[in-house]
Amino acid sequence: MNAYDTEYDAIVIGAGPAGSTAARLLARSGAKVVMLDRASFPRDKPCGGGVTIQAARELDIDLEPVIERTITKAQVSFRLGSAFVREWPQPLSYMTQRSRLDAYLAEMACEAGADFRDASPVREIEANGSHVIVRSNGDALRARTVIGADGANGVTAKALGFINQQRRAAVAFEGDATIQNGSASRWEDAIALDMGTIPGGYGWLFPKGDHVNVGVGGWKYAGPTLRGQLSALCAFLELDEAKLTNLRGYNLPLRDAGAPIARGNSLLVGDAAGLVDPLSGEGIHGAFVSGRLAAEAVQRYLASDTHDLTSYETAVDRELMSDIEVSYKLQAVFHRFPRPSVAVLHHSDRFWGNFCGLVRGEMTYTQTEASLGPLRHFFNGLAKLSAIGIRR
Ligand SMILES: Cc1cc2nc3c(=O)[nH]c(=O)nc-3n(C[C@H](O)[C@H](O)[C@H](O)COP(=O)(O)OP(=O)(O)OC[C@H]3O[C@@H](n4cnc5c(N)ncnc54)[C@H](O)[C@@H]3O)c2cc1C
Repeated sequence: MNAYDTEYDAIVIGAGPAGSTAARLLARSGAKVVMLDRASFPRDKPCGGGVTIQAARELDIDLEPVIERTITKAQVSFRLGSAFVREWPQPLSYMTQRSRLDAYLAEMACEAGADFRDASPVREIEANGSHVIVRSNGDALRARTVIGADGANGVTAKALGFINQQRRAAVAFEGDATIQNGSASRWEDAIALDMGTIPGGYGWLFPKGDHVNVGVGGWKYAGPTLRGQLSALCAFLELDEAKLTNLRGYNLPLRDAGAPIARGNSLLVGDAAGLVDPLSGEGIHGAFVSGRLAAEAVQRYLASDTHDLTSYETAVDRELMSDIEVSYKLQAVFHRFPRPSVAVLHHSDRFWGNFCGLVRGEMTYTQTEASLGPLRHFFNGLAKLSAIGIRR
């Protein structure tokens, strides 16, 4: 067989939420798409598996088959001490397991017409102005465009020259614990968040159908402390640390404004592009949005409406980066003044309502900032001051 017998419109490298979304939408529009993943599916990914209502709203498919819990409450503690519970009358987030969520999203991409090859690690990518050659498992696949969706440790960004050595990253460490009978009902529809302990981050407990996921994350330099922080969090939440399974750490990549993520006929989505929310560490929303924007840009390119994929970068800046910039500011203020920030979350219904509006996708960070009116000048000044001397 001629190595290039199959010519694709797009090769998607990586079948996480970003890759599967791009592959599904492109295949549905009639494009010939192949999605490659180095792992055998179903596969797990270090992740809390929290899909906010904001993220779920991005999809035109129903996640119901993989939702294990629906969250309406948060138990918030400060430095593993005093805790309070806040509630919202509507769902805030769904709890999923990534092994099931990602397999389901890949299945939806296949149903839309995409080819999916798992256990297919990509080793080499060559892109020129008109074509891309991707090598995997001894095959050379050829396409008009390539989408790098291979996450924080993928090969595409490097192979295509997008890598930014200075890129900021957060780190997280997590494990799974069985729920003791007595505490099962406590986490039925509630998550736990511990604030103020870890620089640049927080500790969490996210309940699943038959276990809980517990983890800690923060700025990169906090990495070596995370194992100890997880022990302390387990003790605080009355979880038997000795029985934790699936212990693992992973990066959360953060894009700097203006860092290139599209060139010629190639682009990056999701974690490969660093589209994680710096305040919450949530990346599934950015993965879904960038997957959609990538599919739209590739469709325009295939229809010869554009001569390259750089419109994608503009779209990401418009739909995601302006919010990510405000999230950076909030993160700086929150971590400079953790105690007052947690107190505001506890006592201010307006602030809690805004937080829930953000998580539910009813408002954006940018709208929240604008809603401050003249006070936003104070907020911006405070954010600038708060960011001074912060080590990431
Ligand atoms: C501990 C932790 C907890 C988190 N919790 C949450 C949370 O609760 N909610 C949330 O929204 N976000 C969370 N995040 C962030 C979230 O996990 C990521 O932002 C999200 O997975 C990004 O999706 P993606 O599709 O871009 O990449 P990924 O999900 O990482 O998928 C990339 C895929 O590419 C494949 N791949 C890699 N290299 C190659 C190669 N060479 N060839 C072929 N395939 C390759 C991988 O096998 C993988 O399947 C968390 C992150 C961490 C580290």
